[in-house]
Amino acid sequence: MIKVEKYIVGVDIGGTWIRAAISSMDLREENIKIKTTRTLKEHEYSISNSVILLISELLAEYDISNEEVIGIGLASAGPVDMEKGEVFNNANLGFRVIPLVEPLQDRFPEIPIYLINDGIASVLGIHYFEAEEYEKDNLVYITMSTGFGGGVICNGHLLLGKEGNAAEIGHAIVEPHSDHQCNCGAYGCWEVFSSGTGIKNRALEALETSTLNSKILMFMVDNDPSRITAKEIFQAAKGADKFSKSIIEMSLYYNKIGVGLVNNFYDCRSIYFGGALMKDHGLIIPSLVEQFEKDPLQFTVNHPPNIKVTRYLDDIGVRGALVLVKYKLEGNPVIE
Ligand SMILES: [Zn+2]
Repeated sequence: MIKVEKYIVGVDIGGTWIRAAISSMDLREENIKIKTTRTLKEHEYSISNSVILLISELLAEYDISNEEVIGIGLASAGPVDMEKGEVFNNANLGFRVIPLVEPLQDRFPEIPIYLINDGIASVLGIHYFEAEEYEKDNLVYITMSTGFGGGVICNGHLLLGKEGNAAEIGHAIVEPHSDHQCNCGAYGCWEVFSSGTGIKNRALEALETSTLNSKILMFMVDNDPSRITAKEIFQAAKGADKFSKSIIEMSLYYNKIGVGLVNNFYDCRSIYFGGALMKDHGLIIPSLVEQFEKDPLQFTVNHPPNIKVTRYLDDIGVRGALVLVKYKLEGNPVIE
């Protein structure tokens, strides 16, 4: 890493992983250094403790002092309360309220800290690192991972909402009479059917009653259903496992509903997808593209968007957290 005068820090807090990055303000590829740790959920402060540790390790590794850091961007799985600096009602982080900004500010008292919903951070990441000029003003990002999240730039402005959760699209209720309860408490949310957690849970339930062949899946987990995750289901579906295919088909149907709603609400030029499930984008994206090319009206009244996968995959959130700090410090009109 080339030594510069000032550095910025970005952090991405997800249901399974926490990523932290340090970079120079110019965000040049060779100056972005990322470090990752598993998300601990022992108590309300487990996450802030991990974040402090990760940042401290990065600073030590690259021989950077606190005084050289001019901003920290925290992107977290939402909902977030930007004013209070905490996460609330999150479906996957384990506690109703998780304080973030205060414990970090105690440790880094002189450094401005900005908290933002991770989906919203990611759309900033796409905006800076990836989107083409014609897409930038009407851009959506959707993360498909343990849970779902989203971020929207509409008419050139980042949508935040009253507390910072303007695009909690994973909790769009796509099946209101469903028996399937989301971790958020509601029934029939989009992520109940299509997120990593949703796909796993739907598969475990369906295994009890399904007559479809699940031999490949069961072989992959040594006949132990408790070892099934979305990863194995995608893998088995790539083979000839009829059971796994049916679970993926179900998730794809709800993706069409969800993406159709997003396009109805935001009239976006392009939607970029990211998150852990995009490791299997070949099983997820083509059905969406085909639907919106051939018969968009079944799911959306607006002209359909371009559908793309971010090339930064797991890193787009932490990159977005860096961009947030850069845009804040530079007064970029997108976030004003
Ligand atoms: Zn929900």
